[in-house]
Amino acid sequence: MANQLTDDIYTMKTVKTVSLDDGISWEQVECPHCGSSPLFVVATALDGNINVDPNQRTRWLRCPHCLRGSLLDRGTMHPAPVPLREPGGLPADVAAAWSQVRQCLQVGAPTATVLVSRAILRRLAAGADAADQAAEPGTERCTGLVGLVEHLVAEGYLTARMKVWAERLAPAVDAADDLAVTLEPATARDVASFTLRTLEAFYELDEVMGEGSADS
Ligand SMILES: [Zn+2]
Repeated sequence: MANQLTDDIYTMKTVKTVSLDDGISWEQVECPHCGSSPLFVVATALDGNINVDPNQRTRWLRCPHCLRGSLLDRGTMHPAPVPLREPGGLPADVAAAWSQVRQCLQVGAPTATVLVSRAILRRLAAGADAADQAAEPGTERCTGLVGLVEHLVAEGYLTARMKVWAERLAPAVDAADDLAVTLEPATARDVASFTLRTLEAFYELDEVMGEGSADS
């Protein structure tokens, strides 16, 4: 691992070195790309004092797992970690869309976060709708976030408490494509968290339960 971590790295001249085994060579933080920990410290600025407060140092890091780089600058990680998590059991197209939501959140793009989240929620409702219409032709299609969630509650995918949450978020979600509306980052985070809960209920539970799930 040591060779893979260091063999392709070139450094400037007049660099002072520390051993790979030295505690200062490893940082107990999570990789912002893949979540692994700890990270290897490729270089650190100590300002001549090895005991300098970690929050006053700048450290250039490399992940032993994904080999990507990051920078821990006086306590702040760059790039910022990708927020939220990926639930298990997502189909490829939903997984790609959910990855976009997380990246939009990461770079601070609230409107894009909400628009892609809404597309995911609509896709889920359409899936539930298709199953519904197969059983009961002519069932009305739902519109708007609250309609979507009422539908998913009726289908048993979500609990009724999610409806209260949906009612609070609905004005922002339903107006996300209105250029006159400015979405706050906290609202986007809430919508993304709501979408995550919905994805967990829709896909992850079945995956966790395996082939013996209620649907089979
Ligand atoms: Zn990594």
